[in-house]
Formats: sequence, structure tokens, C-alpha cells
Amino acid sequence: MADPEPSMSTAEIHIAIIGGGLCGLALAIALERRRISYTIYELQSTFSEIGAGLNVAPNAIAAFNAIEPKLGDAVMALGTRNSPNAEVWMVNRLGAPTDRFPDAHAITEIIAPGVGHTAVGRYELLNLLASKIDTRHARFQKKLTRVEQGEDAATLHFEDGTVDAAHIVIGCDGIHSAVRRSLVGNDHRAAEPRFTGIGGYRAVFPMDQLAEAIGPEVARTSCIWSGPGGYATMYSIEGGKKVNVGLWLSKEQYRERVKNDRWVLRKQKAEMLEDCRSWGPSIQKVMRMMGEETTLWTSHHHDMELDSYFKGRVCVIGDAAHSMGPHQGQGASQAMEDAYVMSVVLSQIKDPSCDHMSPLLCIEAAFSGWQEVRKPQAEWVLRTSHEAFDWWSSFWRRDLEEKDIEERSREATFRFRRIWDANVDRQGDVAKYSMLRSLQKAMQVAL
Ligand SMILES: Cc1cc2nc3c(=O)[nH]c(=O)nc-3n(C[C@H](O)[C@H](O)[C@H](O)COP(=O)(O)OP(=O)(O)OC[C@H]3O[C@@H](n4cnc5c(N)ncnc54)[C@H](O)[C@@H]3O)c2cc1C
Repeated sequence: MADPEPSMSTAEIHIAIIGGGLCGLALAIALERRRISYTIYELQSTFSEIGAGLNVAPNAIAAFNAIEPKLGDAVMALGTRNSPNAEVWMVNRLGAPTDRFPDAHAITEIIAPGVGHTAVGRYELLNLLASKIDTRHARFQKKLTRVEQGEDAATLHFEDGTVDAAHIVIGCDGIHSAVRRSLVGNDHRAAEPRFTGIGGYRAVFPMDQLAEAIGPEVARTSCIWSGPGGYATMYSIEGGKKVNVGLWLSKEQYRERVKNDRWVLRKQKAEMLEDCRSWGPSIQKVMRMMGEETTLWTSHHHDMELDSYFKGRVCVIGDAAHSMGPHQGQGASQAMEDAYVMSVVLSQIKDPSCDHMSPLLCIEAAFSGWQEVRKPQAEWVLRTSHEAFDWWSSFWRRDLEEKDIEERSREATFRFRRIWDANVDRQGDVAKYSMLRSLQKAMQVAL
């Protein structure tokens, strides 16, 4: 968009979405449905994703359905689910024998009503979302370097030397967000994510291979194995033909090593086998199946919370705002809730109550309504995701007793239902109410 008119009415607002990942595309769909003008800028030459599977949690399905009716159902149709009980999210197993219980003992089944464990290919999900937007609104190979705010618009600066302008900028540019850096300044301690001290060895195998190694019943239902010093995950992808495996362990000793942007360490098989020497036979067998090329992903998150996710006409959402560890499978789900609630408040900028206000005041009221709802929720999920690493791993103890297992079942239900049952429609209503309340207050002051 060239030169937004200084005298624009709030109904003519144009939005720049920086980043065409899951969050940016979800927001674009939501804006398109609400007939809000936008352009999406993506640094790659196409919409693309790395990595294999993604667990889409019940709260993400609800957010997709709120963004566009039946979109959540379409996402579920892409997913691989457990059989015979499709409502099982994860079976929590023991990753090594204890004094009382054998290796692979099932501690508890965590149920996610209606959704269970829905694993989608990242690329398939991204394609589905991309198919819903009008690509005339997309600009590729546009790497944003910084945003400058002016009185009537923000100026976007790209690495290729070009500039563009928009009334509102939403940073959906992920964990290394340039928009976040523009908001807080490059030298701010919260500008970049930090190493969590945890690393994950990850691989994808043919399901038949895994079933042969640990038995078909154990292999075919998604499970989390609590073991000495960490936990392992396994879940089916690609309609049950393959399985996604991860082993997450404390890697505190890597703190210095990852400082130089070495997030993914290659050829780590020997170290991995050393790391899981005290685990039980099932996990040892699986880990031996991993290739020589096995990589270690060092997990990073935004442990330094921002005082505010917005300033003036610029706001960050999704991983750009609150990137979190993968231990509750929630990063993308929180991003979907962010996108839906953001579309609700942005659509209020067209509301007649905004007509008599300065556009910037309306934009700030919209962001503040969104933030009031989304910041505490996403940050709570971020913190508990980090704690969840210990929660999964510290459960394994030699002297584990039956009563510990009963307690675990109760805790597991509480932990995940608190996240999955966050009613996204209600969050949208509360954010809208909060935005309109701040506008009313501003109007009273103006009178
Ligand atoms: C190992 C691992 C496992 C995970 N498992 C799960 C899971 O099971 N379930 C779950 O919900 N979440 C999971 N997550 C988290 C999830 O992947 C993220 O939370 C989610 O992808 C965030 O979406 P996003 O759109 O905010 O950011 P991203 O997916 O990172 O997208 C950012 C987009 O912005 C673009 N971009 C970046 N910088 C710029 C720039 N300067 N200019 C223009 N464009 C830019 C990028 O190319 C990209 O397209 C996992 C993460 C990891 C690392």
C-alpha cells in the first residue's frame, strides 16, 4: 500500500501482517472473512514449513472454527488420530522399570474429548490455510528489517531496500521476530528468546519398524514416556504410516555452546545413546533405530516477558510474542487463539463508536483489549510449558507407588483441561468489551 491518507476514516484501515507462518495465515483468513484490508509479507519465496508433525490441540480446533466456520473440522480431517480410542491424547508410560512397575507400564491415559491426539503434517496444514486466502494480498521474499511508526502510518523497511506502509502492523514473524526487536530495541534483554536448558533428539520412522521394535499396541497409540532425566514422545503421522519420535533431556551443559546461534546440532547419535543408557529396553531399542545423522534441537523460549505486546500501531502475536517450549504441545494453538481474538478487536475498528475517535486511539484500544485477554493466558501457558518438562520427567522414580499414579491421573486431567477449555469465543467477547470500555472512557475525557 502506498502512502495511507492522513485523513483516513477508521473504516479504511489497512493492515500489514509480517510473516506467513501458521499465525500470519490464520490471521489473514480471519481478516479476509471480516472484509478487513491486509497485505501479508513473507520472507520465503512461498508459504512453507519445516518439520514433520504438529499436535493440534482442542483449543486450536476451537480457534480455527471461530476463525472460519468448519475450518477446525477441515484441520481435523487432515489429522492422524489414535485408534481404537480417538479421544486419547497421550498414554503416559514409564520409560524405564521402577522397583514396582515394569518398563513401558501405562501410568494414565490423558483424554482430550472430541479431538484426542490430532497430528497434522505442518506443510499440509499450512497449505490448507494458504488455500483460504487470496494470494493477491501476499508478497514473498520480503524480509522485514524494521518498522518505523509515524503519525498516520507505519513504514515497513525490507532487506531488499524497498519500503511500504500500513496503518497497523501485526508481527507474526515467529521466534526471531524483527517486529519484536523494532518494538523493544535490538539491545533489550527481551528482544531475543533464550535457551531453556532442554534439548530434543527427533526422528521420523516407518510405523511398521516401530511396531516391530516395541509391539504394535504400544507403538500405535500416541504416548509420552517419563524416564530418568527426561521424557520421550511418539505419535503417528501420515495416516499411521509413520511415527514422529522425540527424546527431550536436560542439556544445561550446552548453554555456552548455543550462544552462537547453534540451535540445531548435527550428528548426535553417539551422544544420544550415551544419554539414554539408564532408560529401559523399549526406549533404548527405539533410539538405536535413529540414524547417524540424528540432530539435537535446543529448545528456546521468550522467558523475558514484554511489558506490552504493542506500542502505537504495532503489535506482536504468536511466537513473535510468546514463543514457548514444546512440552504441552501448545505453541501453534496459542497462536491460533491470538489470531482469532485479534481479528475480533480489529473488526471493531470499523464500529461506529470508532468514527469519532482518532484512528490511533482506536487501534490502541483494540490492542489493549486483545492484550488484556491474551497476554495472561499465553504467558501462563508459556510458564507451565517450561515447568512441564520437569513434570513429565520427574515423575519417573525408582520408588514410585500406586498412590503416586492416582495423583498423576488427577493432575494430568487438570493441567490440560485448564489449557484446552479456554473458551476462545468468550475471549473474543471479553476483548471486544474491554476495547469498547476504553473507547468510552476516552470519549468521556474528550467531552
Ligand atoms: C520441536 C517443536 C515442536 C513443536 N510442536 C508443537 C506442537 O506439537 N503443537 C503446537 O501447537 N506447537 C508446536 N510447536 C510450536 C509451533 O511450531 C509454533 O508455536 C508455531 O509454528 C508458531 O507459529 P507462528 O506463525 O507464530 O511462527 P512461525 O511458524 O515461526 O512463522 C513465522 C513466519 O514468519 C516468517 N518470517 C520470519 N521473519 C520474518 C521477517 N523478518 N520478515 C518476513 N517474514 C518473516 C517466517 O518465514 C515464517 O513463515 C513446536 C515447536 C517446535 C520447535
